[in-house]
Amino acid sequence: MYDCIVVGAGPAGLSASLFLARYRRRVLTFHHNSPRNEYAHGVHGFLGHHGISPAELLARGRDEVTTHGGLIIEACVTGIERLSNEHFRVHTGHGNQDSRTFDAQRVLLATGLRDLTPDCPGFRDFYGVSVHHCPDCDGYECIDKRIAVLGSGTKTVGFALGLLTWTNHITLITEGKDDLSQEDRAKLAAFQISVREQSIKALDGDLKSKQLRRILFNDGDVLECDALFFNLGTEPASNLHEILGCKLDESCGLVWVDQTQQTSVEGVYAAGDLTPDSQLAIVAAAEGAMAAIHIHDSLIPSARKPK
Ligand SMILES: Cc1cc2nc3c(=O)[nH]c(=O)nc-3n(C[C@H](O)[C@H](O)[C@H](O)COP(=O)(O)OP(=O)(O)OC[C@H]3O[C@@H](n4cnc5c(N)ncnc54)[C@H](O)[C@@H]3O)c2cc1C
Repeated sequence: MYDCIVVGAGPAGLSASLFLARYRRRVLTFHHNSPRNEYAHGVHGFLGHHGISPAELLARGRDEVTTHGGLIIEACVTGIERLSNEHFRVHTGHGNQDSRTFDAQRVLLATGLRDLTPDCPGFRDFYGVSVHHCPDCDGYECIDKRIAVLGSGTKTVGFALGLLTWTNHITLITEGKDDLSQEDRAKLAAFQISVREQSIKALDGDLKSKQLRRILFNDGDVLECDALFFNLGTEPASNLHEILGCKLDESCGLVWVDQTQQTSVEGVYAAGDLTPDSQLAIVAAAEGAMAAIHIHDSLIPSARKPK
């Protein structure tokens, strides 16, 4: 019986595992090798590690966890059963010979999100270097550059206006999804943000440096630009929170947690992108640390606590 099983070894899961190991808890972490930012060339804004490659940050994190006595296994968690308040059974594998079960008193879900990405040719060639989804992460690198924004609806208008923090050269591409209100259009016009409604044929640029140079449209038109930001939404990377019956936050649809990072299911905690609030590596790591503090506290026998 482990004290805690952590599902997901991104910044949230590894930070929680490190703290749990330092509390001398028996912690088992599942590592399934596809973190959200695997395409990013560097993690921006992570104090003390600004610009570190995502792979390097996670490799260091895994090393720190195992050095402190935590165990990390590479496997996909496919199911979790709640046998009692203090007893969870975690299943890995898909019913074949790799299927295994592991038991724990607490579970931390740190499984993250998957981005819905454009399906146009060339996208993967530039993603993470000159094609982005997160202005907080990559806006600074686009100061005074020509930015294209892909998306539709009022949410994307807000997203495009937010990029004015870094540049005044912004073009919004809606691909004909004509769902902009008159008010949205007036706001965009007030800040000289032009709107293109044609659909994208392909992204083009320098493949070696992954630098986007232009967007080619199906009608033959071309938009010269230095970066593309897309705003197409996200989805949870796993359905384990649904299997466990965790409540969702009404405003954003992500997994609801209380101030201790505990979900609506007793003994199940969640941290990182899967929960509401900013989706940044440093925030995920901080939430993982908070979850670990409260998981450790919940496992301390009442006799060892003050009245
Ligand atoms: C292209 C890109 C660039 C980014 N750039 C920055 C940046 O510059 N600065 C910044 O602060 N943030 C950046 N981010 C955001 C940052 O990557 C996330 O906020 C952060 O990774 C969230 O950490 P997490 O631990 O919650 O989730 P993740 O990092 O996504 O980790 C979740 C882990 O859980 C695993 N997992 C999921 N389901 C299972 C399962 N069933 N069994 C086992 N394992 C499972 C996944 O494989 C993954 O490894 C970027 C994101 C992207 C996509």
